[in-house]
Amino acid sequence: MRLRNIPSARQELADSVYVIDEASIADMRGRWAEHFGNDHPVRIEIGMGKGQFLLELARRNPDVNYIGIERYSSVLVHPVRKLEAMKQSSQTIDNLLLLRTDAEQLNDIFAPGEADRIYLNFSDPWPKDRHAKRRLPGRVFLGRYEKVLADGGAVEFKTDNRGLFDFALEEAREAGWIIDAYTYDLHADPVMNEGNIMTEYERKFSELGNPICKLIEHPMTQST
Ligand code: SAH
Repeated sequence: MRLRNIPSARQELADSVYVIDEASIADMRGRWAEHFGNDHPVRIEIGMGKGQFLLELARRNPDVNYIGIERYSSVLVHPVRKLEAMKQSSQTIDNLLLLRTDAEQLNDIFAPGEADRIYLNFSDPWPKDRHAKRRLPGRVFLGRYEKVLADGGAVEFKTDNRGLFDFALEEAREAGWIIDAYTYDLHADPVMNEGNIMTEYERKFSELGNPICKLIEHPMTQST
C-alpha cells in the first residue's frame, strides 16, 4: 500500500465508533463476543488496506462479526470514512470493528479459539531472506494463527505474487498445516471463485493480467 500521509487520520480514528482505541485493544482479549453483544463467529482480516473486501463481507453476512487489522492510520482512515458515510446514510454496519495495530500483537488481542477464520489478502512480500519471519503466510505467523483459531477454523490467503504463494504452500507443509484447497488462477476456477469478493489489489493486479493465487489451510491440531 503506497502510503500518503493524512495528518487528520489519527484524530478521525479516535473519533470513530468503529475503531477500538489502541490503549484498550488488549483489554478486549477474550471479550470480543461481549463487545459485539452476540455469539456470532468472529473473522479477522490482517492488512485490510482500504477495506473493500471486509466491508462487503460484513454487509453480506450480518450474522458474522468481522475485525479488520491494519497497521497504518493513513490507510485505516479510508474504511473508517466509508463506514462513517454509510452510517450517515442509514446503512449502518454493526458487525465490523477496526484495529490500528501490527498483526504481531495477534495473541495479545485474541484468546485461544476466539476467531474461526483469518483472511490475508495481498500481504507484503518481504522479499529479503532476513525478513522472512515478517511474512504473514509464513510459519511464525501460522503459529500465532493456530492459537487464535477455533476448531474448524481456517486461513484464506490471496495474492498475485507467485513467489510469496509458493513460500506460503511450503510453509504450510513445514508447519504441519493441512491445505484444504489452492489454485494458481482463482478467477478461472469456478469452484474456488464462487462468491469471491475482490480486494483493491486483486482488481488492480488482475486488470494488469496477473493471475490471482488462493490458498485455504487449517492447522493439523484441529479435530476437523
Ligand atoms: N488487503 C488489501 C491491501 C493489501 S496491501 C488488498 O488486498 O487490497 C497490504 C496491507 O497490509 C497494507 O495496507 C499494510 O499496511 C498492511 N499490513 C502489512 N503487514 C501488516 C501487519 N503486520 N499488521 C497489520 N497490517 C499489515
